[in-house]
Amino acid sequence: MEPAAGAAGHVTLVGGGPGTIELLTVAAVEALRDADVVFYDRLAPYQELPTLSTAELVDVGKRPGHHPVSQSGIEGLMVEAAHAGKNVVRLKGGDPYVFGRGGEEVAACVKAGVPVRVISGVTSAISVPAAAGIPVTHREVSHMFTVVSGHAPLTEQEHMHLAGLGGTIVVLMGIGTLHQLAAGLRRAGMRADMPMAVVERGYRPGQRTTIAELGTITTAAADCSNPAVLVIGDVVRVAEANRGCAEAEAELDRLAASLMGA
Ligand code: SAH
Repeated sequence: MEPAAGAAGHVTLVGGGPGTIELLTVAAVEALRDADVVFYDRLAPYQELPTLSTAELVDVGKRPGHHPVSQSGIEGLMVEAAHAGKNVVRLKGGDPYVFGRGGEEVAACVKAGVPVRVISGVTSAISVPAAAGIPVTHREVSHMFTVVSGHAPLTEQEHMHLAGLGGTIVVLMGIGTLHQLAAGLRRAGMRADMPMAVVERGYRPGQRTTIAELGTITTAAADCSNPAVLVIGDVVRVAEANRGCAEAEAELDRLAASLMGA
């Protein structure tokens, strides 16, 4: 639908969650419904967009090593559409302010005099571990979690601080630097048997969890690929223990059912 001539446009940055429409917020669904144009990323739940919006849908997605539209290009497109009077939604994966360049996109709108608002989303940093049964905190196991970008290798000082904290470490964009991270944390004194998980493609077809230890993860996760969230910490064992309980329960149910049938 074309906006009325002269009407003021605006931009809404929408957190799309980890990739399933079930984890969109009500505010996100409403913003999508009301949009004239949606600029979306590949990590957002884009496949279902036509069921949520009649807006024009524009893929500006960036995959590693493949940049169809540059960051400044995206900002230019958003501002241009808003100046043309359109109700613009910028749909991003997870939460716009967690490694999502949301702050830059807000600044670009403000600079251009375009009204802008941000709708928080469910970040993959918490929801993807959860998809594998891993709680990022757990009483008496971990009372903090740190979310780190693995886009570039960490410094030696950062390895030292992370290892010293003793809490859960969650790494996004960490597949390419997994080797450096594991080696750096070992050098910083983290124990080799610290449990680690790599959760690939959370909430999507082909979701897979690889569990190993800090000392063995590089080999165990050799064929893992993006998108993936890494979790380092004893909370990984909580997931394993809970899974063990669930399996034991299922086994008891099966046993009970077969006894009933007997
Ligand atoms: N703003 C996003 C993160 C963007 S950085 C958020 O809050 O979730 C992109 C990284 O997020 C990916 O490299 C990967 O580490 C992680 N990621 C996002 N969605 C994911 C998914 N469904 N499964 C696994 N990792 C995911």
